[in-house]
Amino acid sequence: MECKIIPEKCIACGLCQVYAPEIFDYTEDGIVLFLNDPDTVSLSIDDKDAAAVTTAYRKCPVRAIEIRENT
Ligand code: SF4
Repeated sequence: MECKIIPEKCIACGLCQVYAPEIFDYTEDGIVLFLNDPDTVSLSIDDKDAAAVTTAYRKCPVRAIEIRENT
């Protein structure tokens, strides 16, 4: 799975880290970034993290998280 974040849309609600703490982290202002790769906005997600990332994607109130299944 590929996961993309759109920091410009993020409203710093904190939900994505609740659901996928291994994947998401935040800037000092609370804007989403990837915990292990803060300089990118697109990341390949391991199968073990796919369910958590999918939940975060569904819960994000502003759709600042996008997911795409690998084909
Ligand atoms: S759930 Fe969405 S709006 Fe909330 S912090 Fe995460 S990316 Fe930002």
